[in-house]
Amino acid sequence: MLIAEGLVKRYGSRHALDGFDLAVPAGEIVGLIGHNGAGKTTFVEIVAGLVRPDAGRISIAALDVLREGRAARRLLGVAPQELALYGSATVRENLRLFAGLAGLRGRRGVAEITQVLDELCLTAVADRPVAALSGGQRRRVQAATAMVGSPPLLLLDEPTAGADPETRSALLGAVRARAEAGAAVVYTTHYLPELVDLGATLALARAGRIIARGTQDELTRHLPGELRVTFADAGEPELRRATMDPGADLAALLASGRTPVSVDVRRPGLDDLYRSMEGAETVARTEVRDAA
Ligand code: ATP
Repeated sequence: MLIAEGLVKRYGSRHALDGFDLAVPAGEIVGLIGHNGAGKTTFVEIVAGLVRPDAGRISIAALDVLREGRAARRLLGVAPQELALYGSATVRENLRLFAGLAGLRGRRGVAEITQVLDELCLTAVADRPVAALSGGQRRRVQAATAMVGSPPLLLLDEPTAGADPETRSALLGAVRARAEAGAAVVYTTHYLPELVDLGATLALARAGRIIARGTQDELTRHLPGELRVTFADAGEPELRRATMDPGADLAALLASGRTPVSVDVRRPGLDDLYRSMEGAETVARTEVRDAA
């Protein structure tokens, strides 16, 4: 659905993107993660047509975003990091505007708006001005503006930033439902457990490039887990050790004669992957999949 190849964007001497490749097939949620300044928002801005790249190609459902921008953007719903809503208009009026931009009018428009209000738990505040809503409610309205019209590609840039658990859960449920219905989703976040909840595959951005792409399991397999053992005998009461082979390390410990009271093995997770990006040039690059 979305294919980006070799995107470059410079601001003066700074490379915001420096050969950024990413393919997102229909029905897949890709968690785009990376430290501050890695280029995630610049990528979203380029796909949305807000920023023009200096080099590279990008297409949505085989439409060239740079040459056929208007047609390509009709396939796209974006929830930007900075909220972009009309504060004095009601939630429903904001959604009507975005539905109109997506070419939806009349009964179909009303049906789409009713559905998205329900999905994001916004029905009760539908006729209140956006300016009178809480921050979490506004985030949900922004996500709703991206989803109205059921576009086949969704770009959600930190949609749960500052959200309470209820807001987060409504948003994640709606995103999962859209992907199950066939939408391709690019989801940027610094909150890694969300990506597990979403069943997302991962794309790790660093210094303007994707340095690793795959499932959580594929990307964490090469990282050490942690072995934690507590003892009742004299000596250190607890041992914690990073390990690639917990079974062998535990066997070695038992052979040393100490008697464990409890043994805990923690497999590497997304937090370990994120930390491993510190200083990493390449984690485990997987082929950019052909998602046409
Ligand atoms: P964050 O996680 O903080 O949102 P990000 O991964 O989204 O970060 P970008 O906002 O894409 O990163 O920024 C990438 C780099 O490009 C940063 O070094 C940033 O300072 C620079 N940059 C982005 N937009 C501009 C701009 N309009 N003018 C100058 N530099 C910019």
